[in-house]
Amino acid sequence: MNAHPEPGEAGGILTIDLVGLAANWRELARRAAPAQCAAVVKADAYGCGLEPVTAALAKAGCETFFVAHLDEGRRARAVAPRATIYVLNGLLPGLASAYAGCNLHPVIGSLAELAEWKAFVATTAWHGGAALHVDTGMNRLGLSFDEAAWLARQPQAERGELVLLMSHLACAETPDHPLNARQIAAFGELRAMYPGMPASLANSSGIFLGPDAHHDMVRPGVALYGGNPTPLHINPMGPVVRLQARVLQIRTVAAGETVGYTAAWTASRASRIAVLSLGYGDGILRAASARDHEPGGEAIVAGRPCPFAGVISMDLLAVDVTHLPEDLPRRGDLVTLLGEEISVDDLASHAGTISYEMLTSLGRRYARIYKDGR
Ligand SMILES: *Cc1c(COP(=O)(O)O)cnc(C)c1O
Repeated sequence: MNAHPEPGEAGGILTIDLVGLAANWRELARRAAPAQCAAVVKADAYGCGLEPVTAALAKAGCETFFVAHLDEGRRARAVAPRATIYVLNGLLPGLASAYAGCNLHPVIGSLAELAEWKAFVATTAWHGGAALHVDTGMNRLGLSFDEAAWLARQPQAERGELVLLMSHLACAETPDHPLNARQIAAFGELRAMYPGMPASLANSSGIFLGPDAHHDMVRPGVALYGGNPTPLHINPMGPVVRLQARVLQIRTVAAGETVGYTAAWTASRASRIAVLSLGYGDGILRAASARDHEPGGEAIVAGRPCPFAGVISMDLLAVDVTHLPEDLPRRGDLVTLLGEEISVDDLASHAGTISYEMLTSLGRRYARIYKDGR
């Protein structure tokens, strides 16, 4: 793991609530039951820390994890020795023995990968099995429907050891999108071609499409970390990430003066500006900047929402605190960028993006506190 600064010395403090994370997993598992609920911990568990997140979810009862890369699989294996771990990006050429060495299951996404995996399995005593990813409309990874149909007609021994049939939804967060019904129907047909093989289709949002999408196992990622899997409705998930930043100084700016690079924000009145010690170098995406006639993100300062002022710098962020009592905030105070009051979806929408990008952009310079309820 990266070394992180101590909270007292850091510009920003990221608190990951592992109790809230486990509660989110249990809530998703309840909604998906009787299907099994796995957990997607790729991209450093969406920026929250692969090792602590995987360990906490394994302790909560999660038995299956999905990562994107071989190395992420190794890291997950180190903290979850008994878990089943799938590698979504599949088999890299020549590396089959490395997957087997850590008991990782590649998610096979093409006939070329399948051929290489079968050749490896044939020459070793490895019986760990792989998942078969079939494309049902995403056109990203996966065998085509016709390739999967052809493979299903081959004798069992010719297929290689496949232990999970998988596909991935492209539009699950938009329940009315017609592609959902097409993908669910295609996946149902595929399942019938592979009788007896466990099957998995739904990501976080897919769980909320109802039982037709659940099959044997669901694969939530973003919802575990507090991202809203139902963007058209109130977030059913609890917050997991809290981000606080330190106030470096408070300055007064006369009406008509500008704040920050490119002079994009003009004080419309005599203003007090708090300068915070974090910026786009810490994942506060520059697209959330505040310009004249174009508001940006917000921070909670002394319990009150305060709008960003100006273009976000690499290491600094200015916030308009004119409406607060005159003695607030004070130098060294902590203010909130993400938490109960401001969700990752809120901040993401100010930056014109989605919670996924916000979470995976979270910085490496933060002090990190993992709350495990002890
Ligand atoms: C990332 C990913 C998931 C998890 O998706 P969320 O939308 O974060 O729940 C599930 N399955 C696959 C194939 C993925 O790539």
